[in-house]
Amino acid sequence: MTGILHSRLDEKSTPDVKALGAYNALSVLELVRVLGPISRADLARRTSFKSAALTGLVRYLIEEGLLIETEETRTGARAGRPGRLLQVNSSLKSVLGIDIEPDHLRVAVTDLGGAILSYRQIVCNRQQDPETTFELIKSVSRDMGVKSGDVVRVGASCAGLLDEPNGIVLSSTNLPKWKNVPVRAWLEEIFAVPAHIGRSIHQAAWAEHWFRDENSSGKMLVVTLRTGVGFALVDNGIVYQGRDRFDGELGHTVIDINGPLCACGRRGCLEMFLSPASMTRRIKDKVGQGRANRLAPLLAAGLEVDPELIYRMAREGDPDCRGIVDDLVYYLGIGIGNLVNLLNPDSVVLCGAIDVVNEDLLTVLRKEIERQCLPQSWKNLDVRLSKHAERSALLGAAVRAAQNHVNSVVQSHATK
Ligand SMILES: [Zn+2]
Repeated sequence: MTGILHSRLDEKSTPDVKALGAYNALSVLELVRVLGPISRADLARRTSFKSAALTGLVRYLIEEGLLIETEETRTGARAGRPGRLLQVNSSLKSVLGIDIEPDHLRVAVTDLGGAILSYRQIVCNRQQDPETTFELIKSVSRDMGVKSGDVVRVGASCAGLLDEPNGIVLSSTNLPKWKNVPVRAWLEEIFAVPAHIGRSIHQAAWAEHWFRDENSSGKMLVVTLRTGVGFALVDNGIVYQGRDRFDGELGHTVIDINGPLCACGRRGCLEMFLSPASMTRRIKDKVGQGRANRLAPLLAAGLEVDPELIYRMAREGDPDCRGIVDDLVYYLGIGIGNLVNLLNPDSVVLCGAIDVVNEDLLTVLRKEIERQCLPQSWKNLDVRLSKHAERSALLGAAVRAAQNHVNSVVQSHATK
């Protein structure tokens, strides 16, 4: 019963006996979520609660509708009556997750366990103003059948520098028209329920933690390849957040002091070698030099050259596209290798669009990370892909909204 429990206390709680009761209830709920469906006896074996306390906590969670009991399905020829198993009542309520990325808007309705009930992804223009994005959120959610009050909470994932406690996007390099945007207030006005915002890298890390395997624990490095390149460290259930929550800027670690000028004002940031914008810029340069011949007609026809296309062309044998992908692997390997050497995690989880971040990339990237790592840091390091591809940040926003709803139910009861 270690750190996984702390992730539940996302909202303010008072350090008194009642709050401790709420904390314990949330602890049991979290364990059932990860281990369930689980019998009461097995749950007792996995916790340090005394039997009477556990019985009381389980009864309370069932009364609140947060846990349900189902009949055990027996396989084989085991005798006796089937037992009762506890599981989280995820379908009790639904929440809305929103991922505001510079070039994409993603919206999902999920249950309290983070299972997606409906989902939309829309291509956006990063130059558009925030009002346009919010009109889009309104129309997309309306198309999905979400009416005001249908969901219990809204969670949003945003890029850039945030004032998270006040729900404001202060600024974003990749969304130039977003300055001091009161995202939370606008979402609460649209959907008439409490809303929360968080940085996309932190939301992605929450999703990776929330959907972890039963046996995964320890220190997990989550690396996201989105419009920018970011990382977050999840340490036994806690997502590390810096003073202003502006940590994780892997894309702005300098790896070539004489390299190209980055939007942040410095030279040779990692992002200059592997962000979608840099990949597009480099392929256009090559076309301008009379190379990457297969892409020239596409560019001439006004077709957008995105990383997915560069990847496809690389797989089909275009040497210039192959060179760009090889460079991406090389530089990403340096970036991740540096982090692994600094932080010595148990695992590295890679998130991003499935067209780019796939098994092919992982195979070569693993070799590159190994080359960059100190032997002791590489030993037993698990490097894997996220199961959620480009939806990690969206799912993280949704599950944190669900967590906050559950917290509020339990804490309001505890303080009555
Ligand atoms: Zn930079």
